[in-house]
Amino acid sequence: MTDTIASSTGEAFRVVRNPHAATDAERAEKLRDLAFGLQFTDHMARVTWTADEGWHDRRIEPYGPIPMDPAASVLHYAQEVFEGLKAYRWADGSIRLFRPHANAERLQRSAWRMALPELSVDDFMASIRALVELEHAWVPDAPETSLYLRPFLIGTDVFLGLRAPKRVDYLLIASPSGPYFPGGIKPVSIWVERDYHRAGPGGTGAAKCGGNYAASLRPQMAAYERGFDQVLYLDAATGSVLEELGGMNVFAVRADGTVLTPIINGNILEGVTRSSVIRLLEDQDLKVVERDITLAELRQGIEDGEITEVFACGTAAIVTPVGRMASTDFDVTVGDGQPGPVTAAVRERLTAIQYGRAEDPYGWMHRVL
Ligand SMILES: *Cc1c(COP(=O)(O)O)cnc(C)c1O
Repeated sequence: MTDTIASSTGEAFRVVRNPHAATDAERAEKLRDLAFGLQFTDHMARVTWTADEGWHDRRIEPYGPIPMDPAASVLHYAQEVFEGLKAYRWADGSIRLFRPHANAERLQRSAWRMALPELSVDDFMASIRALVELEHAWVPDAPETSLYLRPFLIGTDVFLGLRAPKRVDYLLIASPSGPYFPGGIKPVSIWVERDYHRAGPGGTGAAKCGGNYAASLRPQMAAYERGFDQVLYLDAATGSVLEELGGMNVFAVRADGTVLTPIINGNILEGVTRSSVIRLLEDQDLKVVERDITLAELRQGIEDGEITEVFACGTAAIVTPVGRMASTDFDVTVGDGQPGPVTAAVRERLTAIQYGRAEDPYGWMHRVL
């Protein structure tokens, strides 16, 4: 069965319906006790780009394997960039996205860095609208759940030489999800990594590319084995300045109410949550300073009580308190190891806006249905 979903902005997406879509009962079963990123909806959006035709063939098709040639460039040279954002079910039944244009624009910046073609903001928005409209029943309504959206670009050029791909596919998949860290707002422990770096000057730290994550798995595994939840990376040039976690930006709260976060320097991924948190803190009359933060300053500050809270933030895990930080030469508890008041308040404020429990004075929420 084929029809089209017209779009108010971009071009229309053709719909090829999944003949094996979940029944209402099967879907209800899958939406029970949701974890993060394990369940997927019945369909996905797709747009193909070729050097000759540009972006074309906008469609929604059954979710499933994507056959590709074994010489496809993504499989050899990691020509991949992605995004992550959530669709929230409000109490009135409507479905809203959080600042989706920021993700669309960041996907373009990431694509540029990896010599992939940029998808227009209109196509990005139209793909989400078309998929979410079709899959609206998959947007869960239990507390702390959402439909996690994963747009990505892959080079599907069939060529083993190294060049900017002449064929690329954009795909959008959707995963009804529960909390990234189950068990409510529980502080995480962080290992400060000394041997490995996430990004370096002139590298790809500012691009949301899969390769950055592949390189983070070995240090992440080592941290798990030591009993830590996450890794904090330092700058590659001096090994002394805080950058970010593997997939989250970091903040430190001082006893005088000032909040510090590493400045965007080309190595750090510029989080949508990060910029939203800065805005929310400033509107609570807290002073936010974006600058270099040395590990020595952070560690000393935590030890002498100058720094009272540390938290990490990103779309998947929202705002997550850090209760303990350690490395080869130190091990400190942040505050009393429990979520601090600034962390708890900004998390509550942000999620209240996202789930429609509070007014959105910023125009951040974007209605889809
Ligand atoms: C995605 C990501 C973040 C968080 O960005 P959000 O837009 O807030 O989700 C932070 N750091 C890295 C490395 C990331 O990939």
